[in-house]
Amino acid sequence: MERVYNFSAGPSTLPEKVLTQASKEMLNYRNAGMSVMEMSHRSKVYDEIIKEAEALLRELLSIPNEYEVLFLQGGASTQFAMVPLNLLSENGTADYIDTGAWSKKAIAEAKKFGNVNVLASSEDANYTYIPNLNDLTFTKDADYIHITTNNTIYGTQFNQLPNVEGVPLVADMSSNILAEKINVNDFGVIFAGAQKNMGPAGVTIVIMKKDLIKKAGDNVPTMLQYKIHADKDSMFNTPPTYSIYVCKLVFEWLKELGGIDAIEKMNRAKAKLLYDCIDESKLFKGPVKKEDRSLMNVPFITGNPDLDTQFIKEAGSKGLVNIKGHRSVGGMRASIYNAMPVEGVKALVNVMKDFEVTHG
Ligand SMILES: *Cc1c(COP(=O)(O)O)cnc(C)c1O
Repeated sequence: MERVYNFSAGPSTLPEKVLTQASKEMLNYRNAGMSVMEMSHRSKVYDEIIKEAEALLRELLSIPNEYEVLFLQGGASTQFAMVPLNLLSENGTADYIDTGAWSKKAIAEAKKFGNVNVLASSEDANYTYIPNLNDLTFTKDADYIHITTNNTIYGTQFNQLPNVEGVPLVADMSSNILAEKINVNDFGVIFAGAQKNMGPAGVTIVIMKKDLIKKAGDNVPTMLQYKIHADKDSMFNTPPTYSIYVCKLVFEWLKELGGIDAIEKMNRAKAKLLYDCIDESKLFKGPVKKEDRSLMNVPFITGNPDLDTQFIKEAGSKGLVNIKGHRSVGGMRASIYNAMPVEGVKALVNVMKDFEVTHG
């Protein structure tokens, strides 16, 4: 069986080149006589891997020296708690913008620890748009403002950032980190689980302004304190060693492609192919407000669940898999992360056009 085009929202497709490289190095990593999975995280060989991963990520995103890069565990979901546990003060308030299920979970978690103010929500239209940022009334001197930059389930993204005026902006970038150019200086904290756009599940990357890393309260579990991980260079305990190694290979692959500028261009071309197809179609519709469309996750529906099911089956028979939409949206969703080649998107567009001819 050949490899399929995997449109999964996460864990998701990885560059074939990276998988080939990992398989070559599986039994004996660069004459270490063992795989990366088997070596001590304190060994010199592994130290080079994690340092190189950090250096590459810093280079790709132009991360300034005033920012710490942490390799943690527990997924983005653990960050939903770690952020308020470390940044939300006893009498302080954190502002959140609710743009979908992941924001909602972040809000619920933060409410366990302090005052939360939900500035706006797009739940009224099943999260098919990003609330107007000019309408927001921020909390004066909030401890931070939390946003989900790309909404994996609904296919929306912030194409503009809120004007936070000195308040740290915390961004859940799990599904669009490394997809397009960002200015790290716009953010206080960026966090992202690896399994969408960076590598295998297991590692969560946190990019955090150093002056936000302070001693947490004594009752905060040690593993949930940013300062502990920062002081120990992400080696307080055993980090997810293999996942970090594969991320390093992905970063190398990205750099070789030409970095963020190059991948952004490819991502825009891929998204245009798919959105143009949806906009020209009389059968398929995109539920998301056009200016808020995601570059990474593209939902589309026919409006007829039986036809959707038929389409998903037909695509599957042609080797295009995991395009069933999230249950809260229905229809289809194609996740076209960095590692999805343009050929995969072209193949999908062809199946859509053929399907419209026979079923439209
Ligand atoms: C997948 C996802 C999460 C959850 O990530 P875990 O690593 O499973 O905790 C959070 N936020 C966004 C935007 C996601 O896409």
